[in-house]
Amino acid sequence: MTERQMPILLVVDDEPFMLKLIIHMLANLGFFQVTGCSSGQAALEWVDQSDSPPDIILCDLNMPEMDGIEFLRKLVEHGYGGSLILVSGEGERMLQTVEVLALAHHIKLLGHLNKPVPPAALAAMLEKWSPVSPRIRRTVEQVYGADAVRDAIANDELVNYYQPKVAVASGRVIGVEALVRWRHPRDGMVFPDRFIGVAEEHGLIDELTRVVMIGALAQTKIWQDAGLMLRVAINISMDNLSSVEFVNHVVGQTAAAGVTPRDVVLEVTESRLMKDIRAPLEILTRLRMQRFRLSIDDFGTGHSSLSQLRDIPFDELKIDRGFVHGAWANQTVQTIYDASLRLARQFGMETVAEGVEDQEDWEFLRRTGCDLAQGYFIAKPMPAADLPGWIEVWQGREREWAAVVA
Ligand code: C2E
Ligand code: MG
Ligand code: MG
Repeated sequence: MTERQMPILLVVDDEPFMLKLIIHMLANLGFFQVTGCSSGQAALEWVDQSDSPPDIILCDLNMPEMDGIEFLRKLVEHGYGGSLILVSGEGERMLQTVEVLALAHHIKLLGHLNKPVPPAALAAMLEKWSPVSPRIRRTVEQVYGADAVRDAIANDELVNYYQPKVAVASGRVIGVEALVRWRHPRDGMVFPDRFIGVAEEHGLIDELTRVVMIGALAQTKIWQDAGLMLRVAINISMDNLSSVEFVNHVVGQTAAAGVTPRDVVLEVTESRLMKDIRAPLEILTRLRMQRFRLSIDDFGTGHSSLSQLRDIPFDELKIDRGFVHGAWANQTVQTIYDASLRLARQFGMETVAEGVEDQEDWEFLRRTGCDLAQGYFIAKPMPAADLPGWIEVWQGREREWAAVVA
């Protein structure tokens, strides 16, 4: 590692002796940009206030007040995008649970170390770290205000990108997922994690969903008229499901666009606990009766995914990318992936794996019999105009593979 690439480190441990020991060990290994905090709260404050946020946090799991598990969740809420090393005296099982949690939060976990920490193991783990670009590090750095988001909708600054969903067995392109982007006049392309939450909090999500849906349905009709028989998936926020009027909007917009409900997939994520699920339950069930396809998004990371499965007749289960990418090489991740797949089959649902990023992921899906796949290995989300060209290239690639296998 060159001088410039040395990571900034933060060590969190409630035991003063352990804290000193680890910082000393790091200094012996040549890491000098190290801060120590004796509680999760102090560490969060440091992450918030520091001009240069840490690249790697070494975190003790067992701390009074805020334990490592709560600290992890709070780190995500505070927009931490760096790496993590878990340090603990707890048993292997507990560490694995937290490892899964970190994956679900999309935190880059370098690994875990058991106390007492052997210096060689610590050095090996730090070797795994590689610098990432600042944009990736601080993805939720700037969240926009309600007025800005309201203006963006009114001024037509939102555009849909489309990411293909393909059948794993045949490679056929089955449909696309519409993913909203904000073409900001000053800041360039803004991703949804920086404005969907704001729209939800300030009563703008119904209008946002309406705009996305109208655009996606019109585009699907254009593709279908041109002979591309694609389904379209639209992301629905739980906040859209509070008024039964939503059913009429969706039915009306779909009919007006000339698209059949069977070709419309509604992807629902439960990002927070719902106090009263009666309205969402009624709305989703009625949409299903109208033959819309319902999909449970980010499965494995939601709050009550299992009770949702029991109560709502979903057609599709999307396994969160935290349980897909790299599953072939990690037993813990694979266990959750397998369980999700089995559960979906038992409920008669189609399975979609998100976050298929490389050939190994793709082959793993083939071996395990997942139905559909989505991810950067297949294609990144793209503007509508690029899709027909991409499909041609993809089909050519599929034919080549088939020839190699035959
Ligand atoms: P999602 O519905 O789970 O969509 C998948 C996200 O994963 C997209 O991020 C996509 O670009 C990204 N992705 C796809 N393949 C890969 C991969 O191989 N590796 C990795 N690391 N990421 C991959 P995006 O577009 O930033 O959207 C983030 C989330 O914002 C979406 O997650 C969805 O929950 C929400 N969202 C997007 N558009 C809308 C919308 O119109 N309405 C609502 N309510 N939410 C939306
Ligand atoms: Mg989705
Ligand atoms: Mg998802």
